[in-house]
Amino acid sequence: MPTIVLGAGVVGTATAWYLRQSGHEVVLIDREAEAAMETSWGNGGVIHASEVEPWSQPGMPLKILRWLGQENAPMLLRYSAVPHILRWGVDFARNCTAQRFREHARANLDLALHSLRCLQKIGAETGIAYDRATRGVLKIYRSRDALDSAERSSEFLARFGLLFERISAERCVQIEPALKDTKSTLAGALYFARDEVGDSNKFAQGLAAACAARGVQCRFGETVQRVEATDSRVRAVLTDKDRLQTDTVVVALGSFTAPMLAQNGIRVPIYPVKGVSITFQRAGWNGAPNVPVIDDSKLFGIVPIGDRMRVSGSAEIAGYDATPALSRAQAIIDSASFTFPEMRHHFDFSKSRIWAGLRPVSAAGTPLIGETRIRGLWINAGHGHLGWTLSCGSGQLVVDLINGRNPGLSLPTQGAISRPAA
Ligand SMILES: Cc1cc2nc3c(=O)[nH]c(=O)nc-3n(C[C@H](O)[C@H](O)[C@H](O)COP(=O)(O)OP(=O)(O)OC[C@H]3O[C@@H](n4cnc5c(N)ncnc54)[C@H](O)[C@@H]3O)c2cc1C
Repeated sequence: MPTIVLGAGVVGTATAWYLRQSGHEVVLIDREAEAAMETSWGNGGVIHASEVEPWSQPGMPLKILRWLGQENAPMLLRYSAVPHILRWGVDFARNCTAQRFREHARANLDLALHSLRCLQKIGAETGIAYDRATRGVLKIYRSRDALDSAERSSEFLARFGLLFERISAERCVQIEPALKDTKSTLAGALYFARDEVGDSNKFAQGLAAACAARGVQCRFGETVQRVEATDSRVRAVLTDKDRLQTDTVVVALGSFTAPMLAQNGIRVPIYPVKGVSITFQRAGWNGAPNVPVIDDSKLFGIVPIGDRMRVSGSAEIAGYDATPALSRAQAIIDSASFTFPEMRHHFDFSKSRIWAGLRPVSAAGTPLIGETRIRGLWINAGHGHLGWTLSCGSGQLVVDLINGRNPGLSLPTQGAISRPAA
């Protein structure tokens, strides 16, 4: 019987790849006409071990409550979403202790470093063109306190393999001359030389094609309605077109994993946090940044991806609607134009793609990877702001677990998900 992967975002497609590589007969299902057309379409594009800290961190619950309903808040919780996030919110708050935050950041780092190696290996094996760039990432800070605190956090992670360098404002401009106009406002930066950039949509589509060429049955444009299970075992997947018998299913539906598995009585602590990106052609802006820059005080990232520039940011807890709010897109562009004043002369909303995606944020800030209490029903979801970074490693990890192999990586236990063998 085939192993069925639900969801062909970047996480599900990587899962299908590793399943096929290890000899499974594989079916990959997605409701969109192609792979990676939802959250994996327009993300920031950064493969960032530098960003592994969970959003569930000390002080965050109070901040979110203080920002409740404020249109310009860094993390906007809309009143309408409050009744739906109570249980997730309690779990999220429980994970905000200093100890759990550090444990989870470290688990994410292990997986991110592993995942980068997996991505590089798949890239070399398949030759997928995904606008890969390896110029590192600059995280800029305007206050010395914020820079000191970020440096302490990175120093902790450096013990476990994160590479970074603290640099002055002058050095920032040497690395990225487009920062020249803002130099006087900078306290300095952290430079992460090993972070990479790539287009996760192009990668996932290339990988889906490579999967299909190796015998994976890609069923796109087909919506999964439910997973059928009896006697605590998976039996079939029911779609709008068919009923497919199986004894092994991997649910990689991103934010939609929770409502899907709720039908099986499994509570999955994942909730969507909407983010926005704006993509435009780089042509004409000769002084555009070549190195990805993440602006800590203005809360946006600007990333060259192939012949395009992508500016992204915003976090909005507002349910499952992925329509981009124009006010949030405008705020991101205003922030980017402050840091890169030249952008004002080259940016035009009418020639840009304004997009939003739902980050599948788990309460712990680490992905949920493992078997549920229903035998043969696996999850690979909840990668939050790190799904592109963690995709290939998570695919390999879940497949190791399915095959009964020790993946050599551990993740914290989360609710219904069993702990991977250490
Ligand atoms: C603004 C923004 C910036 C980001 N920047 C970065 C970044 O720089 N680096 C990084 O690592 N991560 C980043 N992320 C996070 C990253 O994009 C996500 O974590 C990742 O795309 C999640 O991938 P996924 O495969 O789990 O989910 P998805 O890409 O959402 O895939 C789930 C798939 O399931 C399908 N599906 C859903 N329901 C059904 C159904 N009933 N039947 C069939 N198919 C269904 C969908 O069509 C979709 O293709 C960012 C996210 C946002 C929003």
